[in-house]
Amino acid sequence: MCAASQSIVDIRHVNKSFGALKALNNVSLSMNLGEKVVIIGPSGSGKSTLLRSINKLETVDSGSIIVDGQDINDPKTDINKLRMELGMVFQSFNLFPHKTVLENLTIAPVKLKGLSKAEAEAIGLKLLDKVGIKDKAHVYPSRLSGGQQQRVAIARALAMSPKIMLFDEPTSALDPEMIGEVLDVMVTLAREGMTMAVVTHEMGFAREVADRVVFMDHGAVIEQGTPEHFFTSPENERTKLFLSQIL
Ligand code: ADP
Ligand code: MG
Repeated sequence: MCAASQSIVDIRHVNKSFGALKALNNVSLSMNLGEKVVIIGPSGSGKSTLLRSINKLETVDSGSIIVDGQDINDPKTDINKLRMELGMVFQSFNLFPHKTVLENLTIAPVKLKGLSKAEAEAIGLKLLDKVGIKDKAHVYPSRLSGGQQQRVAIARALAMSPKIMLFDEPTSALDPEMIGEVLDVMVTLAREGMTMAVVTHEMGFAREVADRVVFMDHGAVIEQGTPEHFFTSPENERTKLFLSQIL
């Protein structure tokens, strides 16, 4: 296999507009298996659009996105099957309110992967244990704190055994005292080798976990490098300005 085939996500020259607004401007970004990429940038810079494009929640206007060797825009690609390889966690937890915590974790594996209810529950309980809320398996999401709900959302994504996890500002809607418990779960996941793309303003997390930090502004990737590079010697003026505002 050639070296290029090692990248599990390969985004090339992607453009996406909403009317006159250019949300993604010639974005190229690739991720290797096991790599943790943290995406930062001001509000409206295209971070969510980029993540959403990876699992085709947004359709790009031009350019290519290859996930695990498959072009997501190729009509021959089974996008629903490919989406099973991508776990996504949003700022708003989006749990099913009328299902218990455990049911939130078992619905998709039973429906989409054909697991038996018992198999899915066994996996679900293991994952709830992993995120530290096994005791909440049979309660409804509304009974949980925001931090607990977000941990359920992460466990729910993991229940599909994804190859890649996409996080879009997973702690932005949380009260400060709950941010740590969610980041801890993400750090554990990172240490276990998960491939992760994380949009976040949590620079401590970026420092600790990121193999690479990507700074976006006005729909474009402006600068990328190691956390050390970003926090000691950012080059672009816009990167410097942004970092000075959030650090
Ligand atoms: P970020 O996540 O970095 O804050 P987004 O990717 O959400 O940025 O948005 C990038 C730009 O695209 C913003 O100007 C936003 O208002 C616009 N945008 C995003 N989604 C839509 C949409 N569905 N319709 C119109 N404009 C959108
Ligand atoms: Mg966003």
